[in-house]
Amino acid sequence: MKVIDHINQAKRTLFSFEILPPLKGKGIEAIYAGIDPLLEFEPSFINVTYHREEYSYKKVKDDLLQKVSIRRRPGTVGICAAIMFKYGIDTVPHLICGGFSKEETESALIDLQFLGIDNVLALRGDPIPGEKHFMPEKGGHAYASDLVSQISNLNNGIYLHEEIENESKSNFCIGVAGYPEKHFEAINRKTDLRYLKQKVDAGADYIITQIFYDNQKYFDFVDLCRKEGINVPIIPGLKPITNKNHIQFIPKTFNIDFPDELGNELELCKTDAEVNEVGVNWSIKQAKELIEANVPVVHFYTMGRSQAVRSIASKVF
Ligand code: FAD
Repeated sequence: MKVIDHINQAKRTLFSFEILPPLKGKGIEAIYAGIDPLLEFEPSFINVTYHREEYSYKKVKDDLLQKVSIRRRPGTVGICAAIMFKYGIDTVPHLICGGFSKEETESALIDLQFLGIDNVLALRGDPIPGEKHFMPEKGGHAYASDLVSQISNLNNGIYLHEEIENESKSNFCIGVAGYPEKHFEAINRKTDLRYLKQKVDAGADYIITQIFYDNQKYFDFVDLCRKEGINVPIIPGLKPITNKNHIQFIPKTFNIDFPDELGNELELCKTDAEVNEVGVNWSIKQAKELIEANVPVVHFYTMGRSQAVRSIASKVF
């Protein structure tokens, strides 16, 4: 079932979460172990991130180094299919522009269609480590809006290079990313919103936000979107802070700020356990306020921390 249908049919705020494929070499059991503790909260859908290749240098002979391409977390589509098969829960594979030609994207979409996956989160992807700017693949998309257009075209039976009699058209529900604190590359908020509208006009059914810790930033973002004529549901994304490393890692990685009150509380923490308590309590407060404001879904980025998300969900769902 499509995410947008879950939202339209819901009588209350829904619960959903995102997981990462395991590091190469780990089994699917690691995925199930992360999902099982969250089943009692009846997730409407589960997102699975996509991780493109990185480059590494491998010593081949004496001082000779060979540049090799490594994907540390492959398996997005297989994991989505396995989750649907095992739990009967809808999945949302993330699909990125980076590393894909348009033809490869078309094939990937046809695979998803045959697997009965109704949802896709369409993203550009970040620059690969070592690259200063995002570089599209040769013959690939430079922006998520172009990827959304390709998926919308396919939904209308339009393939890239062939005119084909369609017996069965795809019917993907398309999600896109939005940034309450502005995407880090955007010149200003106005252009960022304009490009977000472009994704919606190209066919996106809903927006899911980058992590934020100040609900007011989410509420302001929704207001600005509505003023811009963006009228699709906007799903807030939350991530509990669970250890001392997160205090530096999260703002730096996701280009966001902690509000002063949270920052002050975190500054007093001496151990991971103390940080976890502050982080979980903060997310509980955020989720309660968002649910009171009638948001369509509260979406959690688990990043391997299902227990923390469980502690939050048990207090709010
Ligand atoms: P876009 O919408 O293409 O925007 C990128 C930048 O370009 C923005 O600054 C925008 O303002 C600007 N822009 C857009 N269109 C134009 C245009 N026509 N002309 C000029 N400028 C333009 N990354 C992964 O690799 N894998 C994942 O699984 C993944 N999951 C994510 C899930 C969520 C919910 C979010 C919020 C992010 C996720 N990301 C993931 C990270 C994402 O790929 C990066 O944030 C990336 O830098 C931007 O992606 P986007 O889809 O928002 O890009």
